[in-house]
Amino acid sequence: MTAKEIRESFKSFFESKGHLIVPSAPMVVKDDPTLMFTNAGMNQFKDIILGNATPKSRRQADTQKCLRVSGKHNDLEEVGHDTYHHTMFEMLGNWSFGDYFKKEAISWAWEYIVDVLKINPEDLYATVFEGSKEEGLERDNEAAQIWEQFLPKDHIINGNKHDNFWEMGDTGPCGPCSELHVDSRSKEEKAKVPGRELVNKDDPQVIEIWNLVFMQYNRKADGSLEGLPAKVIDTGMGFERLVRTLQGKTSNYDTDIFQPLIKVMADMAGCKYGEDEKKDIALRVIVDHLRAIAFAIADGQLPSNAKAGYVIRRILRRAVRYGYTFLGQKEAFIYKLVPTLVAEMGDAFPELPAQQKLIMKVMQEEESSFLRTLENGIKLLQGVIDEAKEKGKKEISGEKAFTLFDTFGFPLDLTELICREQEMGVDEKGFDECMQQQKDRARNAAQVQLGDWVVVNENDNDNENGSISEFVGYDNTEYPAHIVKYREVTQKKGSVFEVILDKTPFYGEMGGEVGDSGVLVSEYEEVKVVDTKKENGIAIHILKKMPEHPEAEFMACVDVETRRAIEANHTCTHLLDQALREVLGTHVEQKGSLVTADGLRFDFSHFEKMTPEQIREVEHIVNERIRQNIPLEEFRDYPIEEAKKLGAIALFGEKYGDKVRVVKFGDSVEFCGGCHAKSTGCLGMIRITSESSIAAGIRRIEAITGKEVENLFDITQDFMNNLRSLLNNAPDLMATIKKAIAENKELQSQVEEFKSQNAKKLKETLIEKAREVNGVKVVSGVVPLDPQLAKDIAFQLRAQFPESLLVAIGSVYNEKPTLTVSLSDDLVKDGKNAGQIVREAAKLIQGGGGGQPHFATAGGKNCDDLKTAVTKIIELAKL
Ligand code: ATP
Ligand code: MG
Repeated sequence: MTAKEIRESFKSFFESKGHLIVPSAPMVVKDDPTLMFTNAGMNQFKDIILGNATPKSRRQADTQKCLRVSGKHNDLEEVGHDTYHHTMFEMLGNWSFGDYFKKEAISWAWEYIVDVLKINPEDLYATVFEGSKEEGLERDNEAAQIWEQFLPKDHIINGNKHDNFWEMGDTGPCGPCSELHVDSRSKEEKAKVPGRELVNKDDPQVIEIWNLVFMQYNRKADGSLEGLPAKVIDTGMGFERLVRTLQGKTSNYDTDIFQPLIKVMADMAGCKYGEDEKKDIALRVIVDHLRAIAFAIADGQLPSNAKAGYVIRRILRRAVRYGYTFLGQKEAFIYKLVPTLVAEMGDAFPELPAQQKLIMKVMQEEESSFLRTLENGIKLLQGVIDEAKEKGKKEISGEKAFTLFDTFGFPLDLTELICREQEMGVDEKGFDECMQQQKDRARNAAQVQLGDWVVVNENDNDNENGSISEFVGYDNTEYPAHIVKYREVTQKKGSVFEVILDKTPFYGEMGGEVGDSGVLVSEYEEVKVVDTKKENGIAIHILKKMPEHPEAEFMACVDVETRRAIEANHTCTHLLDQALREVLGTHVEQKGSLVTADGLRFDFSHFEKMTPEQIREVEHIVNERIRQNIPLEEFRDYPIEEAKKLGAIALFGEKYGDKVRVVKFGDSVEFCGGCHAKSTGCLGMIRITSESSIAAGIRRIEAITGKEVENLFDITQDFMNNLRSLLNNAPDLMATIKKAIAENKELQSQVEEFKSQNAKKLKETLIEKAREVNGVKVVSGVVPLDPQLAKDIAFQLRAQFPESLLVAIGSVYNEKPTLTVSLSDDLVKDGKNAGQIVREAAKLIQGGGGGQPHFATAGGKNCDDLKTAVTKIIELAKL
C-alpha cells in the first residue's frame, strides 16, 4: 500500500466504526499561551476533554499534523540521526468522548492492524500500566485482559507510571495507557534476543507505533484522583512509522513518504542515499525539516525572531547548515524540494498547493539570508574552537556562543552541533546567563508581578458558552454589569487592575482589532477602562484605579466614538481584501492585520510591489462600495459548513469551531469575530497611505478612513492654499512653478557667466600688477574670490606664462581665507615646491593645506593676516 492509501484506509476503517472524520487542526497554535505548536492529536480536543465544550460527535477520528520541537515534547536532536523521530509528523487518532472505552479501543486497534493491514501478530507487543502504590492504583488488568484475547501473555508487558500513565497537566483528565510496539528485526536477530526485551529500550527496530490512552480519572488541585464522569479514549499512531512497518522497511525514510524527496535532494547534491552515513543524516534532516517549515508557513507562521517564528527559523537554519556542510550546498536549495512535497502531500493537505508559491518564496529568502551569514559565522566559530582547544579546554565559552547567536543568528543548538562534531562542548549555563542579561536589560522596565484574583461577586452566569464572562458588544456599547473578580498587576511604571465583568460590551484585543476603552459607572463613582485584552476567550478590562465599591452594579460604557472608528477600519480591511483579490488576483491571502481607531494595516501575500495604478484602482473599488452603503449582514453561531457554502473566506492556520460568525458586506464574506460598521457608508472614504514589503512575498498596506481621511484632506488643502498665496494666488499653479524653475535656471547661468567674467577681470588686474623678481614673474594679491575660481586663474596663468612664474593669491570667500600657490615647471625643476610653501605660509592664517609641487592650496581661519601670508609665500619661494 502507498502512504496515501494507508492514510485513507485509517479514515475509512474508523468511519465504518461510526466515527466522524474531522480535519487536522492547524499545526501552529494561536490561542493557548502554554503551547506554540500542536504536539499531539488531542490538542484540538482539549476543551471537550475538559468539559468546556460539547463534541459534535462522540466518536471522531483524524490525521493531525504535529510538531515536536519545543516544550514537553522535543525530538529535534534525534531527527535525522535516528530513523523514526521527526519534527513534523502525522498522528492518526480515534477518539471517544464519553462513548466507548477500553474494550472497543483495543479490539478495533487490533482489528485494524492485524485484520485490515495484515501486520504479523507475532511482531506485536502491548504495554499496560503496572499500577502505582503511591497513587493507590492497581495494574490496568482491564486492558491486560482485553489484550490477552489477542496476544500471548509474553507479548504483554508491564510499564511504569512514567511510560504508561498519561496526564494532561498538573490537574485535569488523566489515566493509564497501552502502547503497541512492532518488532521489525530479521528472523536471525529475533532468534537471538526476544523482542519483549527490547520494548521501550530505544532499539530502532523495535518501536512504538500506537499509544492508546484511557482517560478515566480527574486529578484535583490537592493531587488526589477522582473518577471522570465522561471517560475519554485518545489514541495516537505515528503515520510515518505505520507506513514503514507496512512497506517492510527498517527506516521511516525508506518509505514513499520520504524517498521522492530524498531522491530529488540527492540528485541536487550529486550523491546517492545510503552510501555515506554523514550525507544520509544530512539528507534525512533536510527532507524532514522541509515538511515542518512548509507546513508552518502554510499555517501562517513565518520565520521570525521571536517565539514560534524563531522555532521555525531555527529548524530551517539547522537544515541549511547540514546541506551546507555535508552536501556542498552554497546557495538556497531547500525551497526547490517544495514542488515534490506538494505533489506527494497536496491531496491530503490542500493548504500546501494553495500556498506553494508563497512557501517557496519565503523559504528561498530565509535560506539565502542565512547562507550569507553562515560562512562568516562558521569561520568565526572555528577560530573560537581552535583557541579553546589550544588552551586545553573542553568547551567554548557561553559568551562566545551568545555572540554567534546575537550577531550571526546561530541558534545555540547549531553551535553545539558544530562543536560536537569536533568533540567540543558549549558552556550552556554561560550562554543562558548572557541571554538572561540581555532579556533583563530589555525588559527591566516591563517587569510584571501578578496578584491573586479577588472574587467580588460569585458569578451565576449561565450563558450559552458556560463562560464566566459574556460578550454583548456586537449589539451594545452600554450594558449593566457586575465585577466577577479582579487582580492587581504591578509593573515598574506603576500598577494596573485587571477586571472581569459578568457581561461586557467591551471588545478584548483579538484578531488584529485593538481592545475597547471607556468607563464603568455606578451610583457611587465612575472609573476609566483604559484598554481591554482577551485571555482564554475572556475579556480582561484594564483599570488604573479600582472602584471604591467594586461590589456595586455598574453601567459598562464603551467609548463610542473610538469604537465606531475601529469598526469602520475593521470593515475597511474586509473591503480591501476583496478589492485586492479583484485587482491583483485570488492568490492574495490575508497574512495579518492591525485595526485601530486611527487607521489600519493589512498584510497579504503578493509577490511584487503594487503599481501606483493598482493602488488607485483598489482605492476606487473600495470607495465605490463605501458609497453604495452596503449594509452589514451578520451570521452568528452559524454552522461552519453553511458558512463555507456562502463562500466565506477563512484564514489559513486559523482554528474554527462548528459554529462560526460570518460577516458579509455584499460580496465580501469572511469568517470574523470582530466589530464592524453597520453599513459601508460609515467608512466615509478610504485612502491608502503606504504600500511596502514586510517579508519575502508579503506586502503591507496602511490606510485610513473617515475622519482621518478628512484630516488628511484638510492638511493637503491648507498646504495647497499656502502654496498658492505664496505664489500670489496664481490661477495655474503648475505653470507658475514651472516658470519659476525655468527662470531660476536662467538666472543661475547668468550668475555663472558673471562670475567668470569677474574672474577674468581679476586675472587681468593681477597680471597688470605683476612684478619681476630675479627674472621671475610674480603674480600676487588678495582678492574676493571663490577658491575654485582662484584655482582656475592659477592654471590659466601657468598656461599663459609657462616659464619663470610664481602665482600667490590670497582669496576671501564666505569670510574664509584661502591661499593658492602655483609655480611654473622650470621652477619646480629647480627644487621649489608649492606644497611646502603653502603649508608654511598657512600657519599665518591659522590653517593648513598642501598639494603638488606645481600647485597647492591651504585654507585657514584668519582673514586679517592674509596679505602677510601672501608676502610670506614670495619670501619662501626664495627667487
Ligand atoms: P517515542 O517514545 O517513540 O518518542 P512517544 O512516547 O513520545 O514515542 P506518544 O507521545 O505516545 O509517543 O505519541 C503517539 C505516537 O506518535 C507514537 O506511538 C509514535 O508512533 C508517534 N510519534 C511520537 N513522536 C514522534 C516523532 N517525533 N516522529 C514520528 N512519530 C512520532
Ligand atoms: Mg517521544
